[in-house]
Amino acid sequence: MDHEFHYETDVVVIGAGNAAMCAAISAREQGARTIVLEKAPEEEKGGNTTYTHGSIRFAYNNQEEIKRIIPDLGEEDFKITDFGSYSEEEFYDDLCRMTDYRTDPALAGLLTGKSFETMKWLTEHNIRFIPIYGRQAFKIDGIFKFWGGMVLEAVGGGQGLVEALHQEAKTNGISVLYETMATELLHTDEGIAGVVIKEQGKTKRIKTKSVVLASGGFHANVEMRTRYLGPKWDLVHTRASKYNTGEGIQMALNIGALPAGNWSEAHSVTGDRYLPDFEEGFQKLSYPFGIIVNADGKRFVDEGADFRNYTYAKYGKMILEQPKNCAWQIFDAKVAPFLREEYKGRKVTKVKANSLEELADKVGEIDKEKFLEEIAAFNESIDDSVPFNPNIKDGRKTKGLTIPKSNWANKIDTAPFEAYAVTCGITFTYGGVKINEKTEVQSILYEKINGLYAAGEVVGGLFYKNYPGGAGLMAGSVFGKIAGENAAKFALNQAQIIENA
Ligand SMILES: Cc1cc2nc3c(=O)[nH]c(=O)nc-3n(C[C@H](O)[C@H](O)[C@H](O)COP(=O)(O)OP(=O)(O)OC[C@H]3O[C@@H](n4cnc5c(N)ncnc54)[C@H](O)[C@@H]3O)c2cc1C
Repeated sequence: MDHEFHYETDVVVIGAGNAAMCAAISAREQGARTIVLEKAPEEEKGGNTTYTHGSIRFAYNNQEEIKRIIPDLGEEDFKITDFGSYSEEEFYDDLCRMTDYRTDPALAGLLTGKSFETMKWLTEHNIRFIPIYGRQAFKIDGIFKFWGGMVLEAVGGGQGLVEALHQEAKTNGISVLYETMATELLHTDEGIAGVVIKEQGKTKRIKTKSVVLASGGFHANVEMRTRYLGPKWDLVHTRASKYNTGEGIQMALNIGALPAGNWSEAHSVTGDRYLPDFEEGFQKLSYPFGIIVNADGKRFVDEGADFRNYTYAKYGKMILEQPKNCAWQIFDAKVAPFLREEYKGRKVTKVKANSLEELADKVGEIDKEKFLEEIAAFNESIDDSVPFNPNIKDGRKTKGLTIPKSNWANKIDTAPFEAYAVTCGITFTYGGVKINEKTEVQSILYEKINGLYAAGEVVGGLFYKNYPGGAGLMAGSVFGKIAGENAAKFALNQAQIIENA
């Protein structure tokens, strides 16, 4: 291989989101010279990670362990907060349940088993967390009780997380090349030999023996979406990073990497029907407290099947399958105080009315007669003797309906009524490359590709059909940390071999 190289380093990390920056920090910790490539300009750095709330799922046994992650939280706050516990087994079970038991057991075991120690590692690297009051715990009888296995988020949300990771990288002497896209992996029979990049429009080459692919999935690539997810996926709202267009995965496949995971499904949520692609404020996730109807006036999902963070990632797809690929979330005045912040923005497609008849007229596109029949049947089916409690799966359910509502079923009978027009928005894709427990990318011959590691959305095999909220960031951190460490060791070992030759 006779190329002119413009840079030389031990480890190249492709991407600059959570998985990439964890990998870079971890590689540097091992003493490896590390370069990070970010396709986006500096002000748009960080991929999908930037758009998250920074909510992160990890296993913990008790309040004391939470204190080790957030030592700054005052005693008074701890007194009014019930964090409960979330064991490794519960996390593992959630992953299995959410993915129809398809998740790769080795990767799932690594993710759940290493989640707490990785949280500690993040805090040692100056990433700070706070409790997710409000979204994951409602205050009832003076106590915030957490539910759903997710209790902390990064300070400053996704943007705060990205800034903190980049600051830590900078402090540790890691270079980040912005507006620099990886376009090709250079590869010989011995393994990785370098990366071809387009740096601010100029093609260049980096000499390296170790690469960590952490460039996200292909949710923002309409052609790949339609090719792998199928018809109509070109029509969905595209959320978050426009830079996750799948070339990281493609580059790996081009040198013989093995595809893995659920290529025909994606994380997709319900959100505003008319918001332009990539605009923030899309998702509308308070549906467990109301109902969702389609243009035929019919309900089609169990809105209260589980806590929101166990259902939201698959309900987008169910809306895509409805007539006109849309639906309406309906709430009455009783539950309006429980609606999340995102329902209050100015760019929200909603109508409000003093009667259900007027609501249907204002929506316009709903079959009014069937809609009124549907709500009457829904109201009739609720057993009011079970108290409503948003902090637990309260078992306040419908009886006798074809599509049940299993929890938080409240009659829709108190004006004013509100209808929010929603459609499907894609968040990230599940298909990617196959890795082993060392995060080494596997080839189509089921062997490791020397020097190639992967972490984050670029990896396939962990999530299928659905995913437990907060597991995306944790996966990026756990596998990013492992990938960085192993990539560094590999590169430094190779350098040693050359030196001794
Ligand atoms: C709106 C939203 C909210 C979410 N909320 C949460 C949450 O609260 N908790 C949670 O756990 N998960 C959440 N997720 C999922 C989460 O964002 C992802 O699982 C996680 O951030 C993926 O991290 P990553 O590092 O793999 O990819 P990303 O953060 O997307 O980073 C990919 C990086 O690669 C760069 N890149 C792409 N191609 C190239 C190339 N060819 N060369 C160089 N660079 C390239 C991109 O610019 C980007 O910097 C959310 C997602 C969205 C969209």
